[in-house]
Amino acid sequence: MSFFSTRGQHCVTASQAILRGIAPDGGLFVPAMFPQVSKEKLVEMAGMDYCQRAVSILKLYLEDYDIPEITGAVHAAYDGDKFDSKEIAPVHQLDENTYVLELFHGPTLAFKDMALQLLPHLVTLAAKKNHEHREIAILTATSGDTGKAALEGFRDVPGTSCTVFYPVDGVSNVQKLQMTTTGGDNTHVIAVKGNFDDAQTGVKKLFASRDFAEAMDKEGKVLSSANSINFGRLVPQIVYYFSAYADLIRQGAVSVGEPVNFAVPTGNFGDILAAYYARNMGLPIGKLICASNRNNVLTDFFHTGIYSTHRTFVKTTSPSMDILVSSNLERLLFEAADRDGDLVKVWMNQLSDCGSYSVGEQRLEWMQSLFASGCADDRETAEEIRSRFLHDHYLMDTHTAVASQVLGQYRKATGDDTLTVLVSTASPYKFAEAVLAAVEGQEKAASMDAFACGEELSKMIGIPVPRQVQALKTLPVRHTAVCEKDGMAKAVLDAFEK
Ligand SMILES: *Cc1c(COP(=O)(O)O)cnc(C)c1O
Repeated sequence: MSFFSTRGQHCVTASQAILRGIAPDGGLFVPAMFPQVSKEKLVEMAGMDYCQRAVSILKLYLEDYDIPEITGAVHAAYDGDKFDSKEIAPVHQLDENTYVLELFHGPTLAFKDMALQLLPHLVTLAAKKNHEHREIAILTATSGDTGKAALEGFRDVPGTSCTVFYPVDGVSNVQKLQMTTTGGDNTHVIAVKGNFDDAQTGVKKLFASRDFAEAMDKEGKVLSSANSINFGRLVPQIVYYFSAYADLIRQGAVSVGEPVNFAVPTGNFGDILAAYYARNMGLPIGKLICASNRNNVLTDFFHTGIYSTHRTFVKTTSPSMDILVSSNLERLLFEAADRDGDLVKVWMNQLSDCGSYSVGEQRLEWMQSLFASGCADDRETAEEIRSRFLHDHYLMDTHTAVASQVLGQYRKATGDDTLTVLVSTASPYKFAEAVLAAVEGQEKAASMDAFACGEELSKMIGIPVPRQVQALKTLPVRHTAVCEKDGMAKAVLDAFEK
């Protein structure tokens, strides 16, 4: 399988796409075609464990990796006690026609682990295959969860380093502590005085800068990305949509071939894009419900066909979705443009020059046939957490609750009662203050710190506070660097000096 850039003809292998992260023309790598998975294969997958399912999907895309390599990487990522559920990504019934796909059982308690536990193995194999002897320097901007997941994934992996930028006031207390206490000799964490989009834009600029590449080369390093623009992050995410469907078959909840909907809390559009790729591969999916918080640029886009960042960035209780420029949307645009990279380039230039672009009526209709969309504000999100807890005895985090709320809106508006899988992207313990405030009121939560809130939640649901959160109480803070928006290049080079 070869990979193209969304902005032109550039053609590379899977391992090259993973190693580079982003195409030289600034576009994202996309597979030349979508390999097909038959109904028989879906039935077969129902009888497999998560690792076997992962190998069957990954091998379809990673053609220049051999099967033992893929199998080894998958086991290194998901075996052992890194995930606190044997099923890795378990599916629970929530109500009559809603199931939850829990993607937060990994080491950092958010769905990013699903990909970032595997990515380091794919990257180091890719380096070997392409005779890359320089250190692979991972550079990533995070709205909270990617950062920690990347640091955990790459920590002490030989031949790599991992540098993470986060918006100084844009992440939760637990998220910040998770990052700043990270161990390992090859990890760097830097706060940026700005919001997530500033951090992400800054990182994109570093990737595009020849001077910076030269400076890195002098240090014996070459840049790569752990952001969801890297195809190596996307492909492990495709796996859990197939896995969820296989579990529904196994549980007798669907008959093979019966379509299901997925409701996905969305920020950078990586998670839901993987669902769309799964659909293109033959997974029976009806609608993909794209849920946003008050940063509802995608909701407006799917309603009007106009993507516009002329709006105020809002800080919400679901910080991992506080994003105005959803990078992975570019891969959907590529399909909407019938794979015309020149057209995508025009839209992306309009976005960076004027802050908006429009895809036109016909392409909008095509997207609306696949995607529904909606948004929930903090109050609606809190009410959803409370009501799911009271009615379904299920405690969800703020991000998951945004999608759950939007799913309710969608069902009311359309009457579509198709079985729906709600994608749960984080553990409630990761956003304990907001979750406790939702259930027991602002006042109570405001009087406690994140750890005490976690203890309260634990009493409510009878599940102990995860050990990863407990440990944050005593781990020393190791990373304290702060930089200005335009000082990111220097901050990286300074970090390497230490
Ligand atoms: C990253 C993240 C999201 C958004 O996922 P995208 O792939 O960026 O759309 C949602 N919820 C949580 C908890 C996350 O960490």
